[in-house]
Formats: sequence, structure tokens, C-alpha cells
Amino acid sequence: MTTKNRYDLDPERLATTDEHGNRVYLYPEDVKGKWKSLRMKVYWGLILVYLVLPWIYINGKPSLMVNIAKREFTVLGQTLYGVEPILFFLLLVSGLFFIAFMTTVFGRVWCGWGCPQTVFIQSIFLKIEALIEGKARQRMALDAAPWNFEKIWKRALKWFVFSVISLHIAHTFIGYFVGPKELFVMTMQSPGEHFGIFTATMILSAIFLLDFGWFREQFCLIACPYGRIQSVMMDENSKVVAYDYKRGEPHRGSQGVSKEAEGDCVNCYNCVKVCPTGIDIRRGTQLECIACTQCIDACDDIMTRLKKPTGLIRYATEVELKGESKKKTIRPFIYLGVSLIFVASFFMFLKNSEKPQLVFLRGVGAPFLISEEMITNKFTLKIKHQGDTRFPIRIEIADPLYMDKISINASENPIELDRAEKKVFIFFKFKMGTFETGSKMVKLNIVEANTNELITTKEVPLVGPIN
Ligand code: SF4
Ligand code: SF4
Repeated sequence: MTTKNRYDLDPERLATTDEHGNRVYLYPEDVKGKWKSLRMKVYWGLILVYLVLPWIYINGKPSLMVNIAKREFTVLGQTLYGVEPILFFLLLVSGLFFIAFMTTVFGRVWCGWGCPQTVFIQSIFLKIEALIEGKARQRMALDAAPWNFEKIWKRALKWFVFSVISLHIAHTFIGYFVGPKELFVMTMQSPGEHFGIFTATMILSAIFLLDFGWFREQFCLIACPYGRIQSVMMDENSKVVAYDYKRGEPHRGSQGVSKEAEGDCVNCYNCVKVCPTGIDIRRGTQLECIACTQCIDACDDIMTRLKKPTGLIRYATEVELKGESKKKTIRPFIYLGVSLIFVASFFMFLKNSEKPQLVFLRGVGAPFLISEEMITNKFTLKIKHQGDTRFPIRIEIADPLYMDKISINASENPIELDRAEKKVFIFFKFKMGTFETGSKMVKLNIVEANTNELITTKEVPLVGPIN
């Protein structure tokens, strides 16, 4: 099929593919409008979160850090120690169901408004490209031009700036896992001293550079799994960026249609020219639409100039466009409910796991030692502690009958819960003949040393010679 211009797309193939299957590089035009300015505010807010937050310290700790090796999770100056992988699992599943809820109600809002891919490309990389190479037409002409001096310096400058920004993004990303101060110290040293971190940072920088600088919309169209599955979550009640075909069609220039019978669409292709994935939204909701709202602003601009009402392209549901009344569906509420259940499980699990877990393991060798009429039982106490507080605990004999008869010596008592996992050696000493049968399960109280508040109780089997 022949098309009139590069924006009159072939319905049989992707806008970014030619008849031979090769990539058609896009030069999306810039746009101004209320949605664009709102989006830019959101983008810059997110850039602050993505790029600056981990470098800010609160209470002497990074604002956000996930130390996988130590199983520590720091957020806004509070650290959870010994974080169990199940907590991440619960948060992840909750997040997935929340995204499903958002997609069902608001369509692909994440792609257009929050995804780092869109945020970085739209607010940084495309801006730099336009600054160095000019507007869409100039960029297209530069691409087609032979390698002259202008093309060489513009390309070299563009890729140099892209590389610096990609390096910064990659360093920030790695900073989320190793801590910004530690990362800064590492970068001051020879790469050989931290070869793993250095290699990971370089590979990530290269990925960001290629993706944000060149691959761009192809990632959304080909590689992103969310892009593939979002159509399953959306239905006719989902708010999407949509073309009001009842108002717009038949568009200007449609075959066999008189001027009087034409709809409001003047077939200017501005909605296609600004689209970062190159599609024509007038053909209906498409998998390639990332809901960036560029086409809304482009079309509103034309409608304003033509003194027609804006909103020929707008956020709308399919049901609204058809003029039908909203259909009731419980699907979004199910997604939201499941998400909330997982969030609640996260907090319940967190609360329960804040209690230190103690395991008494009998020491190797003889079960008891006798010295000067005294029996000693040696134990290794393994403690797991997860939470954001550090406090000392004390081990006491709970049974009043044995309080004065059994003494507890420990390599540390009170025991400071200052890390996720700890081992302490405990020695229980008692006189020969303390237990009539030679052994006894003795109850222990584990109390918080500062407040004497009971945390938990434990039992240990103490043994001695049979009388
Ligand atoms: S169709 Fe509109 S909202 Fe969708 S990606 Fe293109 S410009 Fe963005
Ligand atoms: S920008 Fe509006 S008027 Fe122009 S082609 Fe797109 S829908 Fe039609």
C-alpha cells in the first residue's frame, strides 16, 4: 500500500518499521500544552526522587538504600535490619496488583507518567538532543546529511553529554545498593579494587546510554513485559488517551465526503508527528500507546486555532466515546483488594518479625562439665533480629525456684541487638544436686534490658549427673 507522507501510516505494520522490517527512526516533534507542563512537573519531581534522593542523608543514613548482602533496607533514615526476602516478595506482589489496579482504571498511566524510561527520555535526553541538533526537521535533515564537520561535532557533543548523564544515572542506581558514600570512596580508588562494582556500573551506563539515546520507543514496543500484558488488564471502562471518532470522523480529505459532512479532524497529522511511538491514535487504542498525552496537547492546539472545542483527543473510556453509560465492574476493586491484603501482610510480618528470634544450641562436646561441685552447661545462642530499632536484651531465669540456684554467664549479657544476626556463648552454672532427676527444662525470660519489659520466653534443657 502506498502512503501519502511519512505520517500517513501503513495499517499493516508498526510505525517504526519499514516494508523490509528495518527500523524507521522517529523524530517526535515538541509540543506545548497543559498536559505537557503538568507532565514536566511530575517528571522533574520523579527525577529528584530517582537521581537525588539516594544522595541525601537523613539521620546519617542514605534516604533510600537496599543492602542485599547485609539484608538491610534503609528508607528516610530508618533501617530495617535482617530483612527477610519474603518482605520484598510481599511488597513486590502488592506493587504488581496496584499497577494492575491503576492500569484497569487509568490505562497505561505508569508508562506515560512514571516509568524512568519515559521520564529520562522525555525530560532529559530529548531536550539535550533538541538543544544540540535542533527541532525534529533539523534532526531528520542532520541524520540524512553526509558526515561533514557540523554533523561530526554535533553528534560527538550529543553522545558525550548523553554518556555523562548515563554514567550519573548508573552510579545513582548502584548507589541504591552499596550506599552513596561508599560508592564515592570506590570511585576515588582504582577500578581494580572494586572490579565487580566497576564492571556493573560500566555495563549499566552502556545500557542506559544505548536505550535512552538510541533504542528509545523500541524498548516499550519490543522489550517491556508490562507493555505486553497491559491490554489484558484494560477494558472498555479504562481511561485511556483516545480519539473521539464520533466527533472527528470523517476527517478532512476522506474520500467521497463533502466538506459539510466532514468531522472536526482536519487531518493535520500533528497528533502523529508528536507521538514518541509514532502511532496514529485516530486508529483506536493501540498497544504502542504509552499514554504520554502529547497528542492531546497537539490536537488541542489545532482545535483552539480553529476555534473549535478542545478534547477531540482526550482521556476517555471506550464506553464514554460510544455514548454508553458506565458499566459496573468489580475487577479494579479485586486488584486493589489483593494489593491491600499483601500490604497488610507485609506490615503484619514486619511487626511479628521485629521480636528477636532466639535459638539455644547446646555446645559441642560433653553435655556438662563438673568443677568444684558446680555443673556448667554451655550453649550457643543464635539471635536473629529484624527491625528498625537497636536495644539490649537480658536473659533471666523465669522459675522463682531456680532464680538463686542457677547463674547465667554470657560472653555478653545484656546482649546488644545491633545487627541482624548474632551468636553469643551462654554458660548456665548450678550446684550438684540442683535437679533431683539430673536434668530439667528451665524456663527463661528474655527481657528488654532498659525497660525490663518481657519480650519472650524460652526453655533450655539443663543437665547434670543423676544423684
Ligand atoms: S498516541 Fe498519544 S498518548 Fe499515545 S503514545 Fe502517541 S502521543 Fe502518546
Ligand atoms: S491533531 Fe487532531 S486534527 Fe490533527 S490529525 Fe490529529 S486528531 Fe486530527
